[in-house]
Amino acid sequence: MTKEKICIAIDVGGTNLRFCLVDQAGRLLFKERQSTEINRGRDDFLARLYSSLDYLKKKGTAEGWQVVGIGVGVPGLISNEGLVYSSVNLQPLEGLNLRQLICQATGLPTIVVNDANAWAWGEKCFGAGKGMASFLMLTLGTGVGSGLVLNDGLWTGVDGVAAEFGHATVEPEGRLCRCGNHGCLEQYSSASAIVSATMDALHRGGSSCLAHIPPAEITSAIIAEAAAKGDSLARSIFEQAGRYLGIASALVANLLNLDGIILGGGVAASFDLIAQPMRREIVARAFPIPARRLKVIKSELGDDAGILGAAAMAMASI
Ligand SMILES: [Zn+2]
Repeated sequence: MTKEKICIAIDVGGTNLRFCLVDQAGRLLFKERQSTEINRGRDDFLARLYSSLDYLKKKGTAEGWQVVGIGVGVPGLISNEGLVYSSVNLQPLEGLNLRQLICQATGLPTIVVNDANAWAWGEKCFGAGKGMASFLMLTLGTGVGSGLVLNDGLWTGVDGVAAEFGHATVEPEGRLCRCGNHGCLEQYSSASAIVSATMDALHRGGSSCLAHIPPAEITSAIIAEAAAKGDSLARSIFEQAGRYLGIASALVANLLNLDGIILGGGVAASFDLIAQPMRREIVARAFPIPARRLKVIKSELGDDAGILGAAAMAMASI
């Protein structure tokens, strides 16, 4: 009997490493989570990675499946060949060709892609992007990650580093970004930006129910909760984050005339608060035809999107 083909998918985060066995229909057959602990160094990280891959390969085989490939999502600038050019949260991996290393260690065909690209492809194959030929995926978390799907294919650019939408300048003299530029979108619309804008507003004496919460405990989820209850300071912070997203998205509408933009990540839990001002800016700034076409919708797969996308890409590359 022919064994069912499955893939190993890995989501390498700054905090957690997630490993899954995924079948061709996008079902998660097995999940495991570990701490990334990149501070223990490159060799230690790779040794743990190889040992987990070996375990998963054996587990898949023992369960009666045929493990045919590995898909890996990594935050940062990743070449089309799987070289990690740069990664703010995983600096020890910079300069490594992760694809080649994993391939050599496991003997399995491997693809390594930017995590937001993997997320975009997951939504395309199994989630909110299924009915759209061309869309932009935005992951609003610590930063603003993005992946671009054009004409039913992922557009990674000539060097593999396309779709860095989070580093579009929205304020020429604005806040300094970790990329070295000033006024990048992620300084205004990421979860971290929402928290720091709230802190600034409270520090300036803004009136809010959040003023009674110890600053170290304020998260974007708590700010969203306050906004949902009608807190005007919290609402204005989300309004501003959505507005900046809309300003940058209007350019995308005019440039690419996409079907839609999908919002995912932590801040997307406050979808309504963000999407309304975003839509308003797109309509006000872009030409009517691409603005009307561009839907703003919520991720359907949440945290699993990157894993599913990496698995689907690995499966397709075999
Ligand atoms: Zn930047």
